[in-house]
Amino acid sequence: MQQHLANKQQWLLKASFALCLLCIVFVLVMSSGSRHDYDDIMDKGVLTIITRNSPTTYYQDKDQVSGFEYELAQMFAQYLGVKLEVVVADTLDDLISEVESGNVALAAAGLTITPERNERVRFASSYLDVQQKLVYRIDQKRPKKIEQLLGKTIVVTAHSSHAQYLRDLQQSSLPQLTWIERDDAEVSELVQMVENGEIDYTIVDSNEFDALSGFYPNVASALQLGETQQLAWAFSKCSDNSLLNKSREFFQLVRETGLLSQLEERYYGHLNQIDNVGTLTFLRQADQRLHRYQELFQKEANTHELDWRLLAAIGYQESHWKPRARSRTGVRGLMMLTRTTAKEMGVKNRLNAEQSIQGGSAYFAKLKKRFDHIAEPDRTWIALAAYNVGAGHVKDAQKITEKRGGDPERWMDVKESLPLLAQKKYYKKTQYGFARGYEPVEYVQNIRRFYDLLVWREQPEPSYSFNSTDGESFFTADSGYTTIPPLTVVN
Ligand code: GLU
Repeated sequence: MQQHLANKQQWLLKASFALCLLCIVFVLVMSSGSRHDYDDIMDKGVLTIITRNSPTTYYQDKDQVSGFEYELAQMFAQYLGVKLEVVVADTLDDLISEVESGNVALAAAGLTITPERNERVRFASSYLDVQQKLVYRIDQKRPKKIEQLLGKTIVVTAHSSHAQYLRDLQQSSLPQLTWIERDDAEVSELVQMVENGEIDYTIVDSNEFDALSGFYPNVASALQLGETQQLAWAFSKCSDNSLLNKSREFFQLVRETGLLSQLEERYYGHLNQIDNVGTLTFLRQADQRLHRYQELFQKEANTHELDWRLLAAIGYQESHWKPRARSRTGVRGLMMLTRTTAKEMGVKNRLNAEQSIQGGSAYFAKLKKRFDHIAEPDRTWIALAAYNVGAGHVKDAQKITEKRGGDPERWMDVKESLPLLAQKKYYKKTQYGFARGYEPVEYVQNIRRFYDLLVWREQPEPSYSFNSTDGESFFTADSGYTTIPPLTVVN
């Protein structure tokens, strides 16, 4: 009996030793096989991510690479102190497969966390909540219930969370439901198809809808489908957790420092301020009227090193490009100059379009100089607010911002304080007193939208150009961002 027990103990010892050895070998194999663990990335000095070419992720702007996901990944690379390499996948399926097989460090691609994907990849903590929106054309009957999807042409991106949603719906309650999945089209093309009346519906995420709907004035969201979902970066299951953990630290940091909400504000914050009618009117007037003044805007833009489309957007917001416009308070002309400003800028006749554009542009350039210690793009938005409400009130709002613990050089914070200038409790302590501070907030949002539309109008479709002004890249060398990374395309 004694002998038997000793044998058994020996056997157990051997077995656990073998198991340990196996574990060590397994860990060694895993870590040498994966080339994208934290240590490998630090050794090589390169973080390789995969994304897709879409308006919310990554796209080539006129003079720079842009996109919410791209910029977030740039920040992460910067946080790690390495260079960013971007791989662009053709389809969502390619994208997930590349992550799954560990060929890239992570996917930053507006990916929704779904149970099916959870089987294949490991998601980091979510950075954005989204809702799925059913997009329809506004001259058609608005579907109010899910059953109304039956018999309609619905097209979604292949392998997307939207396709998965429809599959689940078909299995759970609507067996007759049909739809088409497209591998060769991304969301903006699908929204365009709805806009053109080629298909009945498509499904997009709310952030995609926000980014796109302003450019497609004939579409709207009919209803929200399913519960709120979460977007997150995806990591390979065959790498260790080191990079994933680093990304957790990074997300905590960008959340705490407000960098994440700043990025959100920059990409989505000014959208949807103007309704469909506003967009349609703007585009119509841009076709009919803008050509008369475009050269004048361009000339002034050259003189003051500004973007002519920004000046044109100011002109539209001020007067709808009408040289004889007049406000209740006697402000006049295409750029709506007050008598004092006109005099200061050497404008003799405010109703003369050329003089008005000259004076308005010079005035805006002057305001930008007053705020030259502020980094772009905040400097532009703050100078615009000053064009509307006066630099004195903006300075007051900056002081309030500081007192409330915000950053007076961040538009995102200043725009919260501006409306307070209309409240006695605040304005009685300011230097310049009361102001209708909510007006400049709306003013800036509108101009940003008009500017986006002008940029968009110049580009061949489909295109996405939301966030830069020529010559003034919003993330320049000053903010420490690296230049355009090498690109690889995965087919
Ligand atoms: N969030 C969606 C997904 O993860 C995006 C798909 C799309 O834009 O088509 O599938």
